[in-house]
Amino acid sequence: MEKRERDREKDNNLCFLCMEEHDKELVKRNQKTIFKDEEVDYEEQVLYCKNTDEYYSTEEMISENDISMKDAYRKKTGLLTSKEIISIREKFGCSQKSLAIILGLGEKTVTRYENHQVQDKAYDNLLKSLADNPLLFVESLKANKDSLSKDSFRKIFKKTNKIISEYDNHYLELSILAEYEGDYDPVFTGNTNLNLKKVTELVNYFGTIVKDLFLVKLMKLLWYSDFYHYKKTGHGISGLCYFKEKMGALPKAYDKIILLDDVKKETVMVGDNLVDKFVGSKTLTNAVLSNEEIETLEVIAFKFKKYSTAAIVEEMHNEMAYIKTKDKSPMSYDKAEFLNI
Ligand SMILES: [Zn+2]
Repeated sequence: MEKRERDREKDNNLCFLCMEEHDKELVKRNQKTIFKDEEVDYEEQVLYCKNTDEYYSTEEMISENDISMKDAYRKKTGLLTSKEIISIREKFGCSQKSLAIILGLGEKTVTRYENHQVQDKAYDNLLKSLADNPLLFVESLKANKDSLSKDSFRKIFKKTNKIISEYDNHYLELSILAEYEGDYDPVFTGNTNLNLKKVTELVNYFGTIVKDLFLVKLMKLLWYSDFYHYKKTGHGISGLCYFKEKMGALPKAYDKIILLDDVKKETVMVGDNLVDKFVGSKTLTNAVLSNEEIETLEVIAFKFKKYSTAAIVEEMHNEMAYIKTKDKSPMSYDKAEFLNI
């Protein structure tokens, strides 16, 4: 046993160039090669023998250098790298075998594409579309349920469901941002780009401070926060664009905003109706908002905390910014200077 250990150490330290035992320097160097008609730059690792002043690679290094060259080719031609291929599979909680079953491919194909063989364009596109749209993955998963073991199916399904809920929220955000893209003059967004992190922070703050906070009052509190901050600094906080409605100001895409994962709310019965009550979640820190913005929120919360919804709506009806705006039109932050605060 002891002898075998020693032999192995000897082997590990044996230099294949001079055939002596010595420490070899690990060298990283840039290489250029032609692969599939493309010139490829990549980094390879080699060992240096000081006795012969020459370089060589172990079997393992040759294989790693090959992957590194192919990954450089993949990057250059817009294909997923081997690591990206693996990470998409692992994101869905699949082994190589289960992914092969779900996609209807040979198990060896999946293994090869994660190692030394550059994937074909069809496989590359398939993986990219699964990563972009996990709903496609669920369809294939369900269709191949019977070919998977119960445990694999359960494990993959659980992971996929989690991805889908994140995906939904992500698309909700994109859809809100899309509504704000383009045609708005900064005077309607308070010289600020829409910041959904700040929007949810504002909503959760008022949900914490105000008891029984429902939609109409919440929207007024957001409007007063943004307009009052604009009056003080020339900038709104959230970047929301508010429209004049009968009940006061309503931000564009508010119906989507209140569905964001980070907005804390409960569904409660009021009379015969189910309505959203905003409940907040935490104390305010300056991680998302500046101290100046926090001060603004405190002023607004202090003034309106005890107002009924009807009272705050009435207050807003008397604001110049409201009076001077046409029905169903965006409200100009320029009128913030006349705010009754
Ligand atoms: Zn040597």
